[in-house]
Amino acid sequence: MYENNVTRIEELTKQQNAWRINTLNLIASENVLSLRARGIMGSDFAHRYAEGHPGERYYQGTDIIDEIETRLKKHLKSLFHCRQVDVRPISGTMSNDAVFSLYIKPGDVVMVNSTPGGGHISHHKAGSVGKYTANIINFPLTADGYHTDVAHTIDYAKALNPKVMIMGKSLFLFPEPVKELADFCKEHGIVLIYDAAHVLGLIAGRQFQDPIKEGAFIMTGSTHKTFFGSQRGLILSNVGEKDWRAIDKGAFPGSSSNHHLDTLVALTIATYEMMEFGQEYARQIIANAKTLGQKLYDLGFNVQAPDFGFTESHQIALDVTQYGGGDEVARHLKDNHIILNMNLLPFEPLVNVTNPAGIRIGVQEMTRFGMKETEMETIAFLFKKCLVDGKHVGDEVKEFRQQYQKIQYSFDDVERSESKYQDPVPILTADMLVDV
Ligand SMILES: *Cc1c(COP(=O)(O)O)cnc(C)c1O
Repeated sequence: MYENNVTRIEELTKQQNAWRINTLNLIASENVLSLRARGIMGSDFAHRYAEGHPGERYYQGTDIIDEIETRLKKHLKSLFHCRQVDVRPISGTMSNDAVFSLYIKPGDVVMVNSTPGGGHISHHKAGSVGKYTANIINFPLTADGYHTDVAHTIDYAKALNPKVMIMGKSLFLFPEPVKELADFCKEHGIVLIYDAAHVLGLIAGRQFQDPIKEGAFIMTGSTHKTFFGSQRGLILSNVGEKDWRAIDKGAFPGSSSNHHLDTLVALTIATYEMMEFGQEYARQIIANAKTLGQKLYDLGFNVQAPDFGFTESHQIALDVTQYGGGDEVARHLKDNHIILNMNLLPFEPLVNVTNPAGIRIGVQEMTRFGMKETEMETIAFLFKKCLVDGKHVGDEVKEFRQQYQKIQYSFDDVERSESKYQDPVPILTADMLVDV
């Protein structure tokens, strides 16, 4: 009776696959899995449970996932140079919640990045932090809007006694002042948490700040923005055993029970890709973002933070008020096969949230498909043609994008190593992915 509905869902999925590989994907929080990471999904692990830790599970039948999870943890520790990692949160928000639930008690003062200042909803009243306390104050910004004013932060903190500072943003152009504030936090017993959701891949690639080394107490993150996927969360730290045990409980049973073994396996493959190619990848991302910022600026766009080289991350931000604002521009670009999101810019009132002045652009996904500085110039011209000259560029975008279909910085093209195991998991090819 419902079979035709199943067919429809298969069709829609096929449509999505065919459509998105022909668009310029400039959403700053997304990335693509390599074929080998994607192809490993849909295995028997998609059916299984493994609560607890490797070797200390509540269910039988977990020997194989235990080996995979143990390898993943070991290699993440070496990649991020830290003693502890929790790989069980199934998203960045759940990583945050696991940590916040431990450190934030009713009435505690917490200092975060405001929404216009780039902060994430999980740091705010409506999100995870808001579940634990109502006393949320914002980091003061410098006049350019994209940096924290350190001297003012110290004044505020002395006056208001925050228990926790949460750094890291969703509109995230420049490193956070971890080094500058770490000693102050230590002296005043403030827990300094760094949310690396957006920049985890840049940190892994050693092209951004190293928050743990600079003194952040704990780092959380999503594994699918600048990191290579799959969609999950991490908690990383060098805290003492006692604190770590409490964070561990925040992850399980606090914010999850089973931790979705199917995507854990894909994350493990993505982690090896990051270890092998991360530095080269992150370097190219930042070069691309800077180039795109400069070219758009040269073409007359109001690219943010021009005095600071536009960005040191995978993102740039544009004020597009003169073209109708963020909502209109983002929709118009979508009709031309360029996908990105509208964004509040620093100092904008929150009521602007449905039509903010800005758009946010992330270059990480297109970088993964092999685009470099030259391609960034092409993208800048496409923006101009579309937004300034009012031309339809959809077909041009499609044609351009069709030349960049192969996922780089992966082992997809590398001859598989000899293995004594016969792999029972079907390995997908690019074709099969389009055809579902
Ligand atoms: C995206 C993001 C998150 C949450 O990530 P999910 O994996 O989507 O839950 C947390 N913090 C920041 C700063 C983010 O940008």
